[in-house]
Amino acid sequence: MQKLSPQEALEKYWGYKTFRPLQKQAVEAVLSGRDGLIVMPTGGGKSLCYQLPAACGIGLVLVVSPLIALMDDQVAAVNEMGLKAGALHSQARESERRRVFAELNNGTLNLLYVSPERLVAGGILDLIRPRVGLFAVDEAHCVSHWGHEFRPEYRQLGPLFAGFDGVPRIALTATATPQVQQDISTQLGLRNQVALIGHPDRPNLIYRSFPRYDQGHQVLEAIRQHHGEGGIVYAQTRKEVDRLVKTLARAGVSCASYHAGLSAAQRAKAQDDFVHERLDVIVATIAFGMGIDRSNVRYVIHANTPRSIEHYQQESGRAGRDGEPAECILFFSVGDLITHKALSFREEGISPARRRVIERQLSEIGRYAISPVCRHRLLSEHFGKPYPADAVEPAQSVECGACDVCLGETQALPTEEAQLTAQKIISAVYRTESRFGAVYVTKLLLGADDERIMANGHDNLRVFGLLKGTPEKAVRAWIDQLIVQGHLAVTEGEYPLLRVTESGLSVCKGTETARLGHPVIRTAKKKGRKSSTVLPVGPEETLFSNLRRLRLLLARKLSIPPYMVFADSVLISMSALKPADADSLRQIKGVGDAKRDRYGKAFLAVIAGVEPDGVADAFS
Ligand code: ADP
Ligand code: ZN
Repeated sequence: MQKLSPQEALEKYWGYKTFRPLQKQAVEAVLSGRDGLIVMPTGGGKSLCYQLPAACGIGLVLVVSPLIALMDDQVAAVNEMGLKAGALHSQARESERRRVFAELNNGTLNLLYVSPERLVAGGILDLIRPRVGLFAVDEAHCVSHWGHEFRPEYRQLGPLFAGFDGVPRIALTATATPQVQQDISTQLGLRNQVALIGHPDRPNLIYRSFPRYDQGHQVLEAIRQHHGEGGIVYAQTRKEVDRLVKTLARAGVSCASYHAGLSAAQRAKAQDDFVHERLDVIVATIAFGMGIDRSNVRYVIHANTPRSIEHYQQESGRAGRDGEPAECILFFSVGDLITHKALSFREEGISPARRRVIERQLSEIGRYAISPVCRHRLLSEHFGKPYPADAVEPAQSVECGACDVCLGETQALPTEEAQLTAQKIISAVYRTESRFGAVYVTKLLLGADDERIMANGHDNLRVFGLLKGTPEKAVRAWIDQLIVQGHLAVTEGEYPLLRVTESGLSVCKGTETARLGHPVIRTAKKKGRKSSTVLPVGPEETLFSNLRRLRLLLARKLSIPPYMVFADSVLISMSALKPADADSLRQIKGVGDAKRDRYGKAFLAVIAGVEPDGVADAFS
């Protein structure tokens, strides 16, 4: 194989002109024989860090990856680019196995993906010994007890690699605290490593967090902003998943459910339909997404609150891996936190230390959801980095332009008004002696004409009607916000009752401050919402949808996911630039030599006005 420089290989195979942050350093490190530890957020472009050295002629790259579905996707994608890759795992087909061994033997294979189990089982290392040029360990956090997905086989990798002194090792992960980083380095025996730790922020994601008052309605509204685009909806329970699917399907959304109550075959079908774009939306419990490599997921909606910021980062991170704008919305309710806590605490033999961790995580995600503070900043700071990355003063605030707070969709109440409002709400709980729930207290504050309030004589209380005229939704959201901030507490049980905490009393005395925020109510006519859709509009729209149609038809013909033919961004550029020949097509970011040769003619025909169906029929 011809030796190429990293830049040449990047252009030839990937069709990109520039590296993403840290990619070049990572590639250069291993090409110069050093070990590397790469921490980069999802979508940051980790795979290129070990695939590109293969294209530069480093020798065979052995990739250890824990997810079979992801392995097969990567193999297909790499082969599409014109490199040779294969995978060996328990579910590999016999014909595939034979091809891989043949290419291994004749020395043409560039990348070999294996599961850790397969590698540990033995045999492979002896086979590749003469040719291996790099060991890559993907999802490297699995090696650590401290991480969130410990896999015992990962612990045996270090000793296995020990027999290959001159072969560099590269470990990659999306999330690793400093403790986990240290563990990865020790366990995998990284020597004099180049550590490349990226910034956790994902600038192409628009984060939004709103109080939840009507799950089905709010989720549907959010999906309607993304007509025809792929999205994932996460819900807490199977029941909620099923209910949401019903609501969405009735409204004409193409969707399916995914949860542990379905058979393995049903789940595999849903996942496959989603990846191959026969389906726009998957509604799932958190079980979904681990093996999903669909890079053009344009939105992730949390219909319930996730268990921790780490979970939120991972789940929402499945949006926009192709770097194009994508939206992440969280519909928050304090009830979700209570449910999570009850379920986790039910676990047998749960230690007091573990309980404290769970409580801390729930309160962190609660604060993220309710704080009227830039969400990009909250997330970055949670992972220990300032926002923006070059901020000198941590307190400096910059509008990100990509979250509900910075876009003015959620506003903080002015300090004094917030304090006064909080005091009114806390007093209402106090005056009714902690015997009622949020619904009752809200009615009381609004001065509602309610039988129970009258029967209790509470219409005579001074707090009755103190917030008259305020939208009910706002009052409910404020109560949740006070709970998350610890000024109010809720009892456990079927009918949670509110009570005032020590810090709530301090708010009333004025020795502590409460902060409140509220969504800016949008009227139906005046939609103040910034659209996060990336689809072209106007005359380009028709061309774009024809190109998408062609991509879908070709993908079906070749049995590969559409995004593997071309990413969304490539089709968007094609509809804007309308290249007339193969050379100008090749100039588009994401069109490498192999794809130009294979698909160029077909796409150029559609750009020239030929119907996609006819072009696809003629494709061979
Ligand atoms: P990760 O594994 O870090 O989540 P991937 O390796 O899947 O990320 O890459 C995410 C997306 O970014 C892919 O669609 C990939 O083609 C694209 N990408 C990677 N590197 C570049 C680059 N240098 N320029 C443009 N796009 C890139
Ligand atoms: Zn912001």
